Amino acid sequence: MIIGVPKETQKGETRVALIPSMVGQYKKEGHEIYIEKGAGLAAQFFDMQYEQAGATLVNSARELYSQAEVVFKVQPPGINPATGVHEAELMPESSNYIGFLSPFTRRDITGIFVRKHITGFAMEFIPRLTRTQNMDALSSMASLAGYKAVLIAADRLKSLFPLLITAAGTIYPAKVLILGAGVSGLQAIATAHRLGARVEAFDPRSAVEEQVKSLGVSFVKMDLPASETETTGGYAREQSEDFLLRERKTIAAHLPKVNVVICTAQVFGKTAPRLITSEMLDLMQPGALVIDLAVEQGGNCEFSEAGKWVEYKNVSILGALNLPALLPADASQLYSHNLFNFFRHIYPVGKLVPDLSDEITRGSCVTYNGKVVNEWLN
Ligand code: NAD
Repeated sequence: MIIGVPKETQKGETRVALIPSMVGQYKKEGHEIYIEKGAGLAAQFFDMQYEQAGATLVNSARELYSQAEVVFKVQPPGINPATGVHEAELMPESSNYIGFLSPFTRRDITGIFVRKHITGFAMEFIPRLTRTQNMDALSSMASLAGYKAVLIAADRLKSLFPLLITAAGTIYPAKVLILGAGVSGLQAIATAHRLGARVEAFDPRSAVEEQVKSLGVSFVKMDLPASETETTGGYAREQSEDFLLRERKTIAAHLPKVNVVICTAQVFGKTAPRLITSEMLDLMQPGALVIDLAVEQGGNCEFSEAGKWVEYKNVSILGALNLPALLPADASQLYSHNLFNFFRHIYPVGKLVPDLSDEITRGSCVTYNGKVVNEWLN
């Protein structure tokens, strides 16, 4: 197949869907890589490296899209600034797309895919199974986001994270509260702990308590039966308003002592639970920070705004957007590996038609044969 890798065009996006060292892997399996000139530059991967690895450099987005049998992207297709045309419209009829698709909100893309009989796969919909760990780009990117969120907080906070005992006096460690201990939350916990902060975390799933404690930090206790917090598969349930009221009360009791809150609470496909209200922000110390990673799903904190620092009284709140793009070299490397493993699963050598009876292929396919085929969207 001819695999086309265009330059990402969304504002602030620095990642690239394929790094030079992966080109040979595709060629070994009989595929050709076409890459738009400059596609890897923002992540410090140079055209010369792609060329040396055996990729074909293509001058423009229009030329790239018109030749690709399958397009690899990071961000969902949008209006291409060089052509003024939607990137999905630049793709040939009956071609293929693999990348993030923001499928719950970007119905503009699925509409074009359906009309043009494009087979679209959304990285967001790869089922979270043990055997999909090496394809799971939501997780690899969330882990980087958790790490970066803590570094942003440490940089912005007017005091230190670690304990410092000096002749001039003792500096006590910062207190960090992590809400939600899934992929990004666990990485945030580990990072804040490594920086020497005193860390506490909360997640309604009882199984998480052990993981949190194994990182050497405290787990905030709420007395709740597991049946109220988890599905039978061990995933978080969407919580009732009554649960959230009790949870906010528990969080509120911790807020006066906390310097930083990192919010990562989310139930897939739902609006993020509102965990911090304005009354709760009033309880926080002057200079305290809230970093809200769930802002794209509506935010865990009142006043969070996507991509902005908002000042509320003496507390600063960041609605953190696309943190992996601040670590583009490593983020692109992890994403490229996820994509390779996913691509080979859908299109093993010699197979040009996806097998929709397979759980992973079916679960992640959004459009096929002129129809929306995903159960999340029907
Ligand atoms: P995840 O599903 O692995 O973790 C979410 C956790 O939230 C789960 O452990 C779940 O049990 C917990 N949770 C659910 N309801 C809760 C509640 N009421 N209180 C406390 N915890 C609750 O998700 P993830 O991959 O870690 O992503 C978390 C959030 O971060 C999502 O909103 C995601 O979109 C966002 N994210 C942001 C960036 C960025 O750069 N801004 C990058 C990646 C992910």
